[in-house]
Amino acid sequence: MAFLTLSIFILSGLLLTTADPTVAHPGNAVEACASINKSLGSPIVQTSSGPEYNFTVNNAWNVQNTLFKPACIVFPRQASHVQTAMKAIFKAKVHYAVQAGSHTGMKGWNNVQDGILIMFSHMQSLSYDAPSHSVTFEPGIHWGNATAALSQFGVAVVGGRVGDVGTGLLLGGGISFLSPSQGYAADNFLSLDVVLVDGTLVTATASNKYSDLFKVLKGGANRFGIVTKYTVRAVDVGTANETPFFGGHIIYNSSYAATLSKATAKYTRETTDSKAALLFTITTTLINGVAQQVCVLFLFYHGTALPQSIFGDFLTVPAITKELSPLSWTQILPAQDPPDFVSSNRGFVQHFSASAVVPQDNLVLDALSHFQNFSSTFLHNGTQSGMNTTSFVLTPILTTQIAAGHAKGGNVMVSPSLKGPYLNVQRSEQFDAGITDIPQFVQDGMNLYIKQVPPSPGLPLFINECDKGQNVYKTYGEFELLKSTYKKYDPTRFNMLFTEGPIGL
Ligand SMILES: Cc1cc2nc3c(=O)[nH]c(=O)nc-3n(C[C@H](O)[C@H](O)[C@H](O)COP(=O)(O)OP(=O)(O)OC[C@H]3O[C@@H](n4cnc5c(N)ncnc54)[C@H](O)[C@@H]3O)c2cc1C
Repeated sequence: MAFLTLSIFILSGLLLTTADPTVAHPGNAVEACASINKSLGSPIVQTSSGPEYNFTVNNAWNVQNTLFKPACIVFPRQASHVQTAMKAIFKAKVHYAVQAGSHTGMKGWNNVQDGILIMFSHMQSLSYDAPSHSVTFEPGIHWGNATAALSQFGVAVVGGRVGDVGTGLLLGGGISFLSPSQGYAADNFLSLDVVLVDGTLVTATASNKYSDLFKVLKGGANRFGIVTKYTVRAVDVGTANETPFFGGHIIYNSSYAATLSKATAKYTRETTDSKAALLFTITTTLINGVAQQVCVLFLFYHGTALPQSIFGDFLTVPAITKELSPLSWTQILPAQDPPDFVSSNRGFVQHFSASAVVPQDNLVLDALSHFQNFSSTFLHNGTQSGMNTTSFVLTPILTTQIAAGHAKGGNVMVSPSLKGPYLNVQRSEQFDAGITDIPQFVQDGMNLYIKQVPPSPGLPLFINECDKGQNVYKTYGEFELLKSTYKKYDPTRFNMLFTEGPIGL
């Protein structure tokens, strides 16, 4: 008996002394908030549920991320505020999250329950430097506002394709309508100010002692630190009064889904003109209990007309409507998205998943047929899936995009030997208002769907469009560099343990 008591005593002592140091207790967060508040004060640190706290929590695009209530929100005005917050978070070992444009589709990636949220809504400055042809901006700006602010100079940054989305896009690589000529958005980084997990602020460039960090931030997402300032290459696109682009969108009947998917594969295989850009979407929506599908093609050319030799296959398919005209860059990416536009669709559970395939007809048609099966299985009242919309989105990654990235020093996603082309295949789903989580049987269906359309060997999955269970990093061409650099900058794996984001490091 004495032995048993002693064993329990020793065991409980051991458990106490070897208690998992990574386990965060909500109390720690409250104390850390108090310590940050002592340094920075209110309104930078908000611990009560005041209007700005509430607005921030409720504004996340995926409604699942509006349900977390952080112990406090830090609204930095400058990098040193992020340093102060990270030092306290690191010391107290508390869970944290970072939010810029609020548009992640992944549950838990931009908000945190009982932890500390760092929200960039007060850091939105942007400036253009003509001599270096570069743009410097803070993480809180959204792409539409960046476009509007830069149009007076006739330049743009390689950002998103939707105005309301934010700069988190860059850390996931980023795809723009300028990507065919400029590479992934992140390929255009020149310099990044980064607050590391322990609160140290460094500036990373392609040639300084943080060049490894610089490279992995081109696709490494939120795992390597918090970026507080981006300097990127500017691209000449003309002012708001000039219309150097031609294009717009075409809406087609869904009976052309396969024809248009094949045309997108062919376009991806054959297009070598980096002035062309295209995005093909198929969306199925449940309207009054009936699933209705429509195909929408977005197509642009940096020139005065859409060349038949590039876009002919799409222009000859009968359309429901065509809106094609000369365009300024600010018309392609307006400051305000239309009110009924998907990016403004807050209040719903959203879900993404990604694949990337070589642009062969059979692979694209196979991906399409799995999408159609998935949609018809889940998108009707009988299943009680709660799902109201499914989308299938094809983005061509042209050889010109890959070459532009290599020429700019390469990124962590694309192997130096990869030339492309390939097709990013994104699937997304939206659920009914009032639903706050994805039913398990639906997630099981999504997991199966992910398995059915695996990435072709050697192609990187796109983190901005993935399911949070997909091991995207493993598909990266520079995975070994990613792992070793992570170990170097975060040896205790604090980020992996205390904030949500991509798995696999
Ligand atoms: C409607 C819509 C359209 C989209 N269009 C495109 C597109 O055209 N091209 C494309 O590439 N992607 C696109 N995406 C995907 C988008 O890029 C990702 O969802 C991206 O993560 C959004 O960034 P954000 O700043 O808006 O979101 P947030 O949710 O604020 O941030 C996203 C992630 O980045 C992290 N993060 C943000 N800022 C920082 C920082 N400064 N330092 C460290 N971590 C940070 C966050 O913690 C979070 O994990 C689109 C998404 C939506 C919903």
